[in-house]
Amino acid sequence: MIRDLRRSHYQQLTVYLLIIFAVGWFFGRPWVFVAVAAIGYLIWILYQQHRLIAWLIAGAKKTPPEAVGLWGVVFDHLYRVQRDHRKQIRNYRDIVKRIRSSTEALNDGIILLDNDGSIQWWNSAAKDLLRLRKEDTGQLLTNLVREPKFVQFYNKSKHNEPITLDNPAHQGKHMQIAMTVFGKGERLLLLRDVSRLKQLEQMRQDFVANASHELKTPLTVLTGHLENILEYSEDLNPGMIKSLTSMNNQTKRMNNLVNDLLMLTRLDSANGSFEGTEIVMSEFLQQVADDAVALSAEREHEFEIQCQTALNLKGKPGEIRSAVNNLVFNAVHYSPAGSKITLTWAATLSGAVLSVSDEGQGIDQHHIPRLTERFYRADPGRSSDTGGTGLGLAIVKHALQHHNARLDISSTKNKGSTFSCVFPKERLINPLTEEEDEDAAEPVQY
Ligand code: ADP
Repeated sequence: MIRDLRRSHYQQLTVYLLIIFAVGWFFGRPWVFVAVAAIGYLIWILYQQHRLIAWLIAGAKKTPPEAVGLWGVVFDHLYRVQRDHRKQIRNYRDIVKRIRSSTEALNDGIILLDNDGSIQWWNSAAKDLLRLRKEDTGQLLTNLVREPKFVQFYNKSKHNEPITLDNPAHQGKHMQIAMTVFGKGERLLLLRDVSRLKQLEQMRQDFVANASHELKTPLTVLTGHLENILEYSEDLNPGMIKSLTSMNNQTKRMNNLVNDLLMLTRLDSANGSFEGTEIVMSEFLQQVADDAVALSAEREHEFEIQCQTALNLKGKPGEIRSAVNNLVFNAVHYSPAGSKITLTWAATLSGAVLSVSDEGQGIDQHHIPRLTERFYRADPGRSSDTGGTGLGLAIVKHALQHHNARLDISSTKNKGSTFSCVFPKERLINPLTEEEDEDAAEPVQY
């Protein structure tokens, strides 16, 4: 619109100039007339400019000054732009106000951090959770929550899982923190008080631990008596012997279950980092295989140990032993007599892997993600025949987690399965070098 008017404005100016020139010509002084008109025009422009500045200084809130021609359009246009701009700001303010009041109503704490980690904003739940004060604006959050676990979590590039921490502002309380990185490295933290959940979890753990513990003594007494009776069973009739043998087997099974439950409770409550002792892997694998040979007995599985690296593990020998024993015992239970079971210890770029492979019945793919759940069985009928407790893989998972390691499972139905314990570099002794790989022992077969 302005451009259209500009064109007609210049046309008008030219016409006026020609008229003034013609009148000046008539009076014999055309340039004097043109000069006077130009000065008049300049004064008019200066006057309009002055009004425009005065209007802008006043905040451009009132209607713009009246003007004719191009200046009138300029004033109108500026007024409209200013009005739309103010309306937009009002809308944004409303949105921000609504977001603020909804986040204030949340029970979860929200903290907004700048890209350097300093606190920018928080809602009232976060204020209560961490006892934040006005002076904390601009402070580094890692100065307020100093726990190394949080600092480590904060510096990680990915934050898929939230972490649970002791609340530094309220003794005995626990909070869960989830973090999202957005924009140019700003962070949004979601804080939740999980003290009640933690308490319930603790109660569950205590209950299982106490119940298992209480069951242990009567079971030991029962097993002892049953074994004694069966030892002197010549006078008993075959039916009675059969019943007593079955009772003995079931008490043994209950005993295993109680032991597994106690082990899981111990692993559940084990937290925090630990150094661990060195586990010499070549010897360790040999011991595991020896136990497995005894378990396999007349089923005569073929065992092969492939110790492909000289690296050793740093951890809790009891927990690692229990995890690997469970994997090897499963391999024995779920693969046919005489088939081959391979234990491999190998270095990888990110650490090392201990895998147990069998040529057994395999597992359907849809079961795999759930195998480490307590009492989950891929084939309930067969699994209980083996005398397993249904807790083996849950123990493996927790023992590995306690060592910052994970369990990978791959399986092909009717071909076999491989259970791999993947350990990170921090859990290894002797950094991987070329020589160590060359020194690796030849596969042992027996
Ligand atoms: P269980 O005491 O029943 O063996 P686990 O937790 O050790 O309990 O194993 C869970 C389930 O995973 C088993 O019931 C079985 O169905 C399946 N499973 C475990 N290891 C193997 C294996 N090597 N081959 C086939 N199936 C397996």
